[in-house]
Amino acid sequence: MSHLMVSVSGVRGVVGETLTPETIVKFVSAFASFSKGTTVVVGRDSRVSGELSKQIAISTLISHGYKVIDIGVTPTPTVQLMTEHLKADAGLMITASHNPVEWNGLKFIGSDGLFLDPEACKEMYKLADENTFKYKKWDELGSIEHYTSANDDHIQMIFDLDYIDENLIRQKKFKVVLDTINGAGCKIMHDLLRQLGCEIVHINAEAHGIFAHTPEPIPENLSQLMKTVKKENADIGIAVDPDVDRCVLIDENGEALGEEYTLALAVKLVLGKKLGHVVKNMSSSKASDDIAKYYNCLVYESEVGEINVAKKMIEMNAVIGGEGNGGVMLPDLHIGRDAPLAAALTLQHLAEYNGTISALKKTLPEYHIHKEKISIDGIDPEKIFLKIKAKYSGKKISEKDGIKIYDDNWWIHIRKSNTEPILRIISESKTVEKSKELISEIQSLI
Ligand code: MG
Repeated sequence: MSHLMVSVSGVRGVVGETLTPETIVKFVSAFASFSKGTTVVVGRDSRVSGELSKQIAISTLISHGYKVIDIGVTPTPTVQLMTEHLKADAGLMITASHNPVEWNGLKFIGSDGLFLDPEACKEMYKLADENTFKYKKWDELGSIEHYTSANDDHIQMIFDLDYIDENLIRQKKFKVVLDTINGAGCKIMHDLLRQLGCEIVHINAEAHGIFAHTPEPIPENLSQLMKTVKKENADIGIAVDPDVDRCVLIDENGEALGEEYTLALAVKLVLGKKLGHVVKNMSSSKASDDIAKYYNCLVYESEVGEINVAKKMIEMNAVIGGEGNGGVMLPDLHIGRDAPLAAALTLQHLAEYNGTISALKKTLPEYHIHKEKISIDGIDPEKIFLKIKAKYSGKKISEKDGIKIYDDNWWIHIRKSNTEPILRIISESKTVEKSKELISEIQSLI
């Protein structure tokens, strides 16, 4: 039996096991009570269980007196944008992000278009636990309205950014292989690239929710895309995850740039046009730090998790931020990880650079990131952290989120997973060997 995962990233469970109609009613009721508003934007990804889950969520919201604006099958960032843009009191996305097909879930959004922060989640989950909701009477029920242009609005808002010159990108007539994994990105990503004058080879292009490969957009899951880029002699390959907040790039030789380079490229493009602070999570590549240093800008690190990055970006009034997993956040659009935005910024960058994507990558600092996870069932992670601290006592150490050790040329970050009894270990240095060696050093302490 699977677990119901309840965290700052929302609620996720296996449909029919832990994510039942009752679970959806309970958590959506808690969200409705917590939000204390009258209007909510609802979207979903393309999962087979999506329409059913959405209908249950919408009926629950109507039972609590809400006017629901149903925007259909859309990315998570589109629901975030529309919540702000349509001046709704809240937003609800039905998705389990990159979890496998048998999963679904709920992501909770506030009127500012940001995910609920940890304190708000705690309060709301307490309401869910109590489960003592009062529903509206017949003459106080809410209503539903269908809003069909959310994806188009999202694209237009990207084109309205000063960073994007659609005409320049159109002149380049880029040939792009697009892998939308039969997810929520099928329509918006295709429309975006078409409007940017690209010749599109679209794989996994039907939004029926049967994912064509393991959904997490990391190079080991993107072999079909890599092969197709090479076969088609394309300029670039673009992959997104099922709810389209993460974007990963493949070069013209069919080689993955590595998911860390989506953010690094965006940081370079944006700082080249507008100077300011950068925020990234603690597990993201140092490449962005080096780029920011070149522009005399500062980088601030947050704990892992989109809402943590978002809050730090607001605090520091950052011009760009995100996560090394392919999540780019641009406050001039909104403070949410946004794959259509990341794709448009990449094509703008490529158009300005006027060379190949592999050559453009070579202009960025070169780092090798290595990610491992270790089972710690029955082991106290705090004891492991103490050992690590002792071993690296001469180094700069942060204990904001697990433990991170910094050296001039490398770093290593060890943190507890919120959802599994594992430690995540991420290391980065100038060489593959050194990054692996850093991980082995930690493993030998456990
Ligand atoms: Mg996602």
